[in-house]
Amino acid sequence: MPKEEKGGGILTLVASPIGNDLDLSPRARAAIEGADLIAAEDTRRFLALCSREGLSPKGRIVSYYDQVEKGKAGKIVDEVLSGARAVLISDAGTPVINDPGYVVVNEAARRGARVTSCPGPCAAVTALILSGFRADRFCYEGFVPRKEGERKREFERLRSEERTSIFYESARRLEGSLRDMEQALGPERRICIARELTKEHEEVLRVTLGEALGLKGIMGEVALVVEGCPPKKGEAADFVEEAERMAREGARLKDAVKEIARREGVSPHELYEKVQESRRGK
Ligand code: SAM
Repeated sequence: MPKEEKGGGILTLVASPIGNDLDLSPRARAAIEGADLIAAEDTRRFLALCSREGLSPKGRIVSYYDQVEKGKAGKIVDEVLSGARAVLISDAGTPVINDPGYVVVNEAARRGARVTSCPGPCAAVTALILSGFRADRFCYEGFVPRKEGERKREFERLRSEERTSIFYESARRLEGSLRDMEQALGPERRICIARELTKEHEEVLRVTLGEALGLKGIMGEVALVVEGCPPKKGEAADFVEEAERMAREGARLKDAVKEIARREGVSPHELYEKVQESRRGK
């Protein structure tokens, strides 16, 4: 145990299945059965999992969800520092990742309590590795923002994002989000819609945003993976000539700038300004 960690207790973050109970690891089972205290996002769902999997937790079970995290985290850390073996488990997947856990891990780290994990299922990583997109660098973005303005801004930002991005989205809002994404990124950008991962009706759709608009009735739990834009081939100033050529050939300057910016991953605003600058200089 590292020197700065106090007490003999430990907090274990346990990843739980996202659709297939067989994904509960042997280490996770042992942690659950050996814990003195189990903080579960939803105690009924936790007990249902135990009953399906023939587990007999002996420790005290407390409910631990987002709204009570701040109030309960300190007490869990107190118990760990007094020697308790505590487990944190969310409804499905990896704790902390859009699930409770950040507050208690932060508090444990601050106070020198020992924290470990039984790693396992995480919808974001599962969707990423199935997408076929580059995974050497990626960004996890959590849930797509519900507010239209925020959502559009977020998607605009992806125009020049070279890394693969992963989002969670509810099936109900998926159609609207895909529409906004297509507006921001154009019909050619590729995405992967990963639904019902690890479940019987798992489906991994790899399509362009243009094709995605035609998909109807996608149901269940969904993770979205967006391919990054191609690496920048230059700066906005490098495309002034091309924008001018397209304008001479009949395109509206704004449309020409938008198309080049989307393709080359440069800022449309910057390119437009560069064209204006070069016109002023002539
Ligand atoms: N902590 C969890 C994890 O590690 O994946 C994520 C919890 S977040 C509250 C739940 C969201 O994850 C769902 O709304 C959905 O977007 C995504 N998700 C969870 N299970 C999934 C599955 N089996 N297939 C696809 N997406 C899933």
